[in-house]
Amino acid sequence: MRDPGICGKHQSIVRRRSRYRQRDVITQPETRTSYEIGYPSRLSLQPEVDLHTYISLFRMATDPFPQRLPTLDQLGVTDPSNVSPSEVATEWLSGFSAAITQIDAGAVVDLFLEDGFWKDVIALTWDLRTFEGTKDIKKLLDARLAATDLREICLLEEPLREPALQRMFPDLTWVRFCFGFTTKHGKGTGVVYLVPFPDSKWKAYSLLTCLDSLTEFPEKVGPLRHNKADHGTWEENRLQEIEFSTNDPTVLVIGAGHSGLEVAARLKYIGVPTLIIDKKPRVGDNVRPVSISMFNCRLTESRTVR
Ligand SMILES: Cc1cc2nc3c(=O)[nH]c(=O)nc-3n(C[C@H](O)[C@H](O)[C@H](O)COP(=O)(O)OP(=O)(O)OC[C@H]3O[C@@H](n4cnc5c(N)ncnc54)[C@H](O)[C@@H]3O)c2cc1C
Repeated sequence: MRDPGICGKHQSIVRRRSRYRQRDVITQPETRTSYEIGYPSRLSLQPEVDLHTYISLFRMATDPFPQRLPTLDQLGVTDPSNVSPSEVATEWLSGFSAAITQIDAGAVVDLFLEDGFWKDVIALTWDLRTFEGTKDIKKLLDARLAATDLREICLLEEPLREPALQRMFPDLTWVRFCFGFTTKHGKGTGVVYLVPFPDSKWKAYSLLTCLDSLTEFPEKVGPLRHNKADHGTWEENRLQEIEFSTNDPTVLVIGAGHSGLEVAARLKYIGVPTLIIDKKPRVGDNVRPVSISMFNCRLTESRTVR
């Protein structure tokens, strides 16, 4: 019988699972080449593995993933291990910054691989968007560069963010670095992966822009924290806050999972009254049975987190 909660594709996976259970191994056709992102061709599956985990592993193994990695072979270069990552990053970023300042989308995309990526988290699009290829990246910039006033681009050099040459595989090397930026609405962080070209130039394989804070809604941290004494009214105030007895929420978050809780916490930081609702009675009920069965925990009711 069909499970109404599982789509047709997953139904067939459920059937396959029982078929393969005897040998516990699924062999997929070998698809990985040094030019493609691939996944292991053999997945060892244990009968007790949770269905969701099984489905996600199976999908990883079979989904087409045509993205071609910029391997050294494909780029026609030899291993560039003698370069200074700081110099490479600084030179690329200065060209990028100049092109952004002049609102010259054509010059910006010249700094990218033809099939490079620009992933934006809120900063330029107020959304989570990925633009693939210079044609789409140019469209993004034509539409949003002037409107968002992207500026003040500066290399970040603190530990973990400083430019680094990373050799991911014998045939895949890139320079990764981070930069800070400002827009009309706030401050953000960018992450860039540069790959080498035969003419010693480096181009962006991918670039991420992520808005970290909003200028007009600073997080209430450090000196902006609520610093007045509550004089014994904390509990009462907290109850009013929870019950919304004196005000209405500005934002309603549906679902108190990881994402909902995180969104609500961030909104609280910037002073936006937020109510979270969930169809389950307790926070965490969504994952509790799954996690317990997956890790075979023998938790007594008194030890579970309430
Ligand atoms: C088996 C398993 C093991 C995992 N292990 C880990 C791990 O070890 N570490 C890790 O970081 N991640 C783990 N994950 C992933 C992690 O659980 C998810 O990434 C995370 O829960 C996603 O959070 P979310 O808020 O997007 O969705 P969810 O956690 O699914 O939250 C959605 C919430 O919305 C509620 N909801 C849904 N519909 C409605 C509605 N109509 N009205 C009201 N409420 C609604 C649900 O009850 C739920 O509380 C695991 C996932 C699975 C399946």
